Amino acid sequence: MNTAIPLVDLAAQQKEIHEEVMAGLDEVFATTAFIGGKPVGEFERAYAEATDVAHCVGVANGTDAVELALRGVGVRAGGEVIIPANTFVATAEAISRIGAVPVLVDVDDEHLLIDPDLIAAAVTGRTQAIVPVHLFGQVAPVERVLEVAGDIPVVEDAAQSQGATRFGRFAGSLGAVAGTSFYPGKNLGAAGDAGAVTTQDGEMAGRIRVIASHGSARKYDHEVVGMNSRLDTVQAVVLNAKLRRLAGWNERRREAAARYATLLADVDGVRAPRSAEGNVDVWHLYVVRVAERDAVLRSLNEAGIGAGIHYPTPVHLTRAYADLGLERGSFPVAEQAADQILSLPLYPHITQAQQEQVVAALRAAVAAHGVRTEVSTAS
Ligand SMILES: *Cc1c(COP(=O)(O)O)cnc(C)c1O
Repeated sequence: MNTAIPLVDLAAQQKEIHEEVMAGLDEVFATTAFIGGKPVGEFERAYAEATDVAHCVGVANGTDAVELALRGVGVRAGGEVIIPANTFVATAEAISRIGAVPVLVDVDDEHLLIDPDLIAAAVTGRTQAIVPVHLFGQVAPVERVLEVAGDIPVVEDAAQSQGATRFGRFAGSLGAVAGTSFYPGKNLGAAGDAGAVTTQDGEMAGRIRVIASHGSARKYDHEVVGMNSRLDTVQAVVLNAKLRRLAGWNERRREAAARYATLLADVDGVRAPRSAEGNVDVWHLYVVRVAERDAVLRSLNEAGIGAGIHYPTPVHLTRAYADLGLERGSFPVAEQAADQILSLPLYPHITQAQQEQVVAALRAAVAAHGVRTEVSTAS
């Protein structure tokens, strides 16, 4: 009998870490060290090591992490920051909150990541940073972005790619600084909101830590106008337990992605994702492309398959960013992709039987809606 299959299954993760987390929480509550307790420093050291960087600053969420990373490289009000048109809106929000302006460029059709060839045309005298986003668990071609960037700092948005590597180097270690998110559904997820900034630069890490803690390194000595964005001790307990399992869970995601690739090979009309050369991706999302996507998605949901869309509206077409004045047609690849992308359920504990059920439902939906030929690449 078929049962419902969720897009992500956090309960299975929770079960694995339950005892460890409860013991850790008991200690936090016993010591009442809710801010800056021992687990926070432990996590920052462990996450820096796992990302192969010298410094990690735990913060309150991923959007703050990206904002703090941008402030760390000197992004100010009135500046411009280049980002891909296809990303979660938070990348743009982090820029807007500083009073800077997001400048969008289109993505490449194969991986839907920032297209390095389009960056140079977007650079102006006001450009203060470039943000490649490691979307869907991939790693963006940061080495090519760095080439175009010259002296402009490159700030990674690594929210969807904890543990992914490109030519052996970790997402979050490739630019000047990176922001990441531990939103519960991310590959490394807290039990609520959390995030981190990673960098090799100790001076920058120190400045970011000051900004994130009311602009002070010592209590009541406020050097700059800061903000309150700290990693809760309670979240650090959860993150420590999950970080120990992240590599194993990412490996299971890769196995699941490989199974999907096999199962989808003979499903006409569905374009399966592929890893870029040099990448070991961590499959935060498994995003296929299909024509008649909305109808196919409805059929899947009716069949109890928790498929979704990441993301239905490119940043420039959201109402929030109508002010950018960028009409439909501005970024053809991102816009076409937004109409075709479909995220299939994928999480470390998904079973082969569940994946077979997803693909059977997808095959039926595609046939029912007359999708015959694979969506063509944009030209
Ligand atoms: C999740 C996410 C963020 C923001 O993280 P929050 O913790 O939700 O603030 C930023 N960028 C990308 C690409 C994300 O996926």
